[in-house]
Amino acid sequence: MANLNEQKRYCSECEHYSEFSEVKLEESLRIKGVPITASHIYYECNNCKELFESFDDPDYNTRIDFEIYSFKVGILKPVEIKQLRENYGLSLRQFAEIIGISYSTLSEIENGYILHSKHLDSTLRLCENPVSFRDLFLTKEKFLKGNYDGVKENLLALCLSSDDRNAEIVGDFKAMVSDLADKTQEAIRVTNILKYESEDLNRKINGKENGSWSEKVIAVFSS
Ligand SMILES: [Zn+2]
Repeated sequence: MANLNEQKRYCSECEHYSEFSEVKLEESLRIKGVPITASHIYYECNNCKELFESFDDPDYNTRIDFEIYSFKVGILKPVEIKQLRENYGLSLRQFAEIIGISYSTLSEIENGYILHSKHLDSTLRLCENPVSFRDLFLTKEKFLKGNYDGVKENLLALCLSSDDRNAEIVGDFKAMVSDLADKTQEAIRVTNILKYESEDLNRKINGKENGSWSEKVIAVFSS
C-alpha cells in the first residue's frame, strides 16, 4: 500500500479530509455472461477504510475488465478501433456515419466506456480491408450528410498501396499481362514468317526468286 501523493482528499463516505492508500484487488465478475478475473486498483480512505475508484481516472478498472472481455471473446479493443478510423484519416463523426452508428456511441466505444457488440465487431473487421471499406463508402456516399471532401481519393490510394493482398493480386495481374505480351509477340513473329513464306512462295511460283533467304530467316527465328 502506498500513500496517494501524501495529499489529503475529502472522503464522501466518512466526510473527513483523509489520506488514501492504493489497494490492488483480484476480483471476479461476469460481463455479458463471460467470467472475468481482473486485477483492480482502488484507493482506500485511511480513516473509514472505504474503497474508491481512481480519482484521476475513474474508469480505469472498467477499462481493464473490457480489455480482458475483448480478448476472451475476440472483439477489437478500443485502441484498435481508433487506429482503424485514424488509418482512413476520418473523424469520429465521419467514421460513425459511414458504419451507421451515432457519433457519441463510437466515441464511448473508442474511450472504453461501453463495449461494442459482436455484430458491430464483424462490421469493423470487414472495414479493416480498405477495398471493403471503400465499397461501403461508395455505396453510402450519396446518403451521407457530413463533409467527405478528399475521402474517396484517399481511400483509393489506400486500396492501391496499403493492402498486401492487393499487392499480390496486382503482381499476379502484371505477370499475366507480361505473359500475354510475350505470347502476342510470338504470334506476331510467326505471322510475319508465314507472311514472308507466303510471299516467297508466290515469288517462286512466279519464277522470280528462290526461297533460300526465307529458309534462313525461319531457321533463326525458330531456334
Ligand atoms: Zn473515509
